[in-house]
Amino acid sequence: MSYNLFTLEDPYRVVIDIENSELGDELSGLDFSASPIERMRSGVRNGDDLRIVLDLNTETNPTSFTLAPNSELGNRLVVDLYNLDSAVKDSASIINPIRSVQSDERRNIVVAISAGHGGEDPGSIGYDGWIKEKNVTLAISRYLRDYFNSIPGYTPVMIRDGDYYVELQKRPQIARDGRADLFVAIHADWYRSSSANGVTIYALSGDRADRENARRVAEKENSSDLLGGVGGDLAIGGLDDDVALTLVSLQMAWSMEQSLIAGTRVLESMGSVSRLRRDKVQQASLQVLNSPDIPSILIETGYLTNPNEAQRLNSSGFQRNMANSIGRGVMQFFYDSPPEGTLIAWQKENGITPGSYTVKSGDSLSIIAQRFGVTVNELKSLNNLSSNTIRIGQVLTLPGGGPLQVSEHTIQRGETLSEIAVRYSVSLAGLRAANNLSSDRILVGQVLKIPTI
Ligand SMILES: [Zn+2]
Repeated sequence: MSYNLFTLEDPYRVVIDIENSELGDELSGLDFSASPIERMRSGVRNGDDLRIVLDLNTETNPTSFTLAPNSELGNRLVVDLYNLDSAVKDSASIINPIRSVQSDERRNIVVAISAGHGGEDPGSIGYDGWIKEKNVTLAISRYLRDYFNSIPGYTPVMIRDGDYYVELQKRPQIARDGRADLFVAIHADWYRSSSANGVTIYALSGDRADRENARRVAEKENSSDLLGGVGGDLAIGGLDDDVALTLVSLQMAWSMEQSLIAGTRVLESMGSVSRLRRDKVQQASLQVLNSPDIPSILIETGYLTNPNEAQRLNSSGFQRNMANSIGRGVMQFFYDSPPEGTLIAWQKENGITPGSYTVKSGDSLSIIAQRFGVTVNELKSLNNLSSNTIRIGQVLTLPGGGPLQVSEHTIQRGETLSEIAVRYSVSLAGLRAANNLSSDRILVGQVLKIPTI
């Protein structure tokens, strides 16, 4: 693609001339409300060149670069409009937009959710010959998406949302196109012995990372990959090999470290709903975990070859509990070190608990419940409200909110009530009261409410 970009004043404009191109889409209806762009218009030049004009309400310092096609999108021209007075970056991409127009708004943290297998690839088959991993992983992934949709400050991106196969190499690319801050792959295990059970979490290993770095540098000339994360955006094509390798390695080291921390937080949280097969994050050379720029974890949610675990994994109640525990672990990870410029970072700086909502004039419980996709009853029980009356300024807790609230525990064989109380640092009496228990007798599979601290 050959193009020329220049600026004009009175009024401020950015003009982009693209050779041998025509407009493939409407420019009307785009929302520029939080950007310096007033209007975008186009015209034909020299017979078959396309001119695009951005009318601006302020002077900017534009930069531009092109991206080669990938599995999802065609050729792209990305124009970043840098604000002259601050480091705030406003960006707009035109022709196949890969990112929305951004401003200095606090952005959401993006979590990519990759349901393992799909379509022709069923993954593990359950002990009964019917339960298929591809369906279990999709169901848990959908609950995880619902979870993040209900938390202000988070946006989930589904790598697949149906019964079809997405190639392993394409999965991180989809996450990258969605500007994901974390990549979470959901799987369920298989073993020849039906007694194997429990959760395992994997993060990228150094082995795979080194090979991946070398491959990326070798391919960089044709690559449309971006280095995101810590350094913002940087296309690696066009850099010297050694510079590119150093940058990619640095990014990979950061991403591996973050993957381990994220995996640990999720493991801690999942301990409240399932037995952990390994209490540490395992490192493995798995192809789906090959992003140098996005911290990535893979969760084996349990064994489909174990009848007990397979039945639980196949029930919607357990799938939802499991998704919520993953969600809480991810939230804890981001609460500990929120990416710059995000709503969560801002909330933390200002002492606001993530997942909380401050009641505004005109709000009612049902309006708030609707807005965050929860029921009025859920909101009431989360906030210990006995009536529907709320007052302006009142801070409500939303489901899954706050730094690691362990709210439920499913009883595993051999556990006692007092053990569970010690584990969650709550009193035995408090635990009994929260669950209306008159004795300490508990049953395997029983779900306990854990009072939040
Ligand atoms: Zn799998």
